[in-house]
Amino acid sequence: MNKIAPSVVEELPNNLLIVNTEGEIVFANHRIESTFGYKPSELRGKKASMLVPDYFTSMNAEKRVEYYKKPTPYTVGNGVPAVGLRKSGEEFPMEIGLSPFQTEQGTFVSVIILDITERHKTEAELVKKNELLGLAEELTQVGHWQWDTVTNEVIWSDNLYTLFHQSREEDLTYATYFSYVYEEDKEYVTEQVERIIRDKKFYDFFHRIKTGQGQIKIIHLVGKVFTNARGEVIEMIGTCQDVTKQKADEKKLAEFNQQLLDKNKELENFAYVAGHDLKEPLRTMSSVCNLLQKKHGGSFNEEGETLIDLMNSSVNRMSKLISDLLDYSQIGIDRTLVTADCQELVEAVTNDLSLAIEEAQAKIIIGKLPVIQCYRTELRLLFQNLISNALKFHKADIPPTIEISAQLVDTFWKFGVKDNGIGIDKESKTNIFKIFHRLHSYDDYQGTGIGLAHCQKIAELHGGTIWVESELEKGSTFFFTIPL
Ligand code: ADP
Repeated sequence: MNKIAPSVVEELPNNLLIVNTEGEIVFANHRIESTFGYKPSELRGKKASMLVPDYFTSMNAEKRVEYYKKPTPYTVGNGVPAVGLRKSGEEFPMEIGLSPFQTEQGTFVSVIILDITERHKTEAELVKKNELLGLAEELTQVGHWQWDTVTNEVIWSDNLYTLFHQSREEDLTYATYFSYVYEEDKEYVTEQVERIIRDKKFYDFFHRIKTGQGQIKIIHLVGKVFTNARGEVIEMIGTCQDVTKQKADEKKLAEFNQQLLDKNKELENFAYVAGHDLKEPLRTMSSVCNLLQKKHGGSFNEEGETLIDLMNSSVNRMSKLISDLLDYSQIGIDRTLVTADCQELVEAVTNDLSLAIEEAQAKIIIGKLPVIQCYRTELRLLFQNLISNALKFHKADIPPTIEISAQLVDTFWKFGVKDNGIGIDKESKTNIFKIFHRLHSYDDYQGTGIGLAHCQKIAELHGGTIWVESELEKGSTFFFTIPL
């Protein structure tokens, strides 16, 4: 048999066996050794079935007997791979090409064997990746599509069929997709597609579809356009995401936001109008008090004098409360973002407060403060409130020392106003920022309880936050942040 195997057969890059009609190996090329581990001489005269596992031999026994009766060219393992068995006992996937030929000695079959271990692995990986892609598409409500604009053939991923509730039987074309476009959006979609083809550039867009089950969905199309050497559009590929829920949520959120804004505006208006209207009778009360004191002051006894004083101070307190409330409702209404030097701003505030500083014999230490983008009037009020409080809430026998500092942290400035005053207990650290919340009686420390609510509103207006770190009897540091 070696006579019929020219040397070129030896050099073939594939494994070659020549088998007789009994299924015995009459020739094996050298390549066989590297695949199966047998030397060609070890195989000669042996049954070819030794190169496949027993179970594979018995599975295909009948087919093989039939085949050798009338051999024809045939390929095994093109779909499901055949299984090879190496001398080491290891099994591997293979593809086999059989072609019979006649000689003077009778019929023989040449068997070309391909070790497809690598291809098999790659195919398995591809299947796995496709499964993963399918899962990702399902989870994110995304499908992908491909449109050959020359043949008008369209390919959809499995999940796109699911999104459109479209059966898989039909041959897809652009018209299939277009038939799902919601009637009122058809003109818009046509315009978009024409624009994409004209500009050879995909602009993502949204539109509604009516699915195979009559459901209305909003989809988001994103894609890429491919052109040929002449610059003509030949293909588009892309994704299609079902954003119905997302759009509904966005709409709800926008409505909710608008309602909040309207309510807020209403409240601010209410506070403003109420404040204005309350001021008028208060002014009258104050004038009446003054008039009473002026005209009939002499005829009051001591109790009458005290009562008139009490009324006067209550009217003044109420007046201050209303002014503060009016200010609170107006914060940020006419705001304009400007570049401001905080150093100058704080110096101006301490200038305004110089009388109170002097009275309290306070020491003010101003650190290096930055130039920032801010709402100047509002920020000035914030510093003023914090410094006034630091002056006001000092310990009876210790003059206040107040330190104002700033530190750049990541993407924002962190400002601090530190005092050595009476401090704040743990439980009250958040409550003090609520409007009208005070920790002391009016007689101990005067005030309206609006100052820190102002500060919080101003910090938030800048996109920042405010908080306090404090220890009773040791002092407090108020921090607030202003994003860059
Ligand atoms: P007001 O100063 O008019 O009372 P604020 O809103 O400015 O109102 O402050 C609320 C409360 O927080 C104050 O009544 C006080 O009890 C407490 N507080 C504010 N600043 C300080 C401070 N620097 N030290 C101690 N307590 C403070």
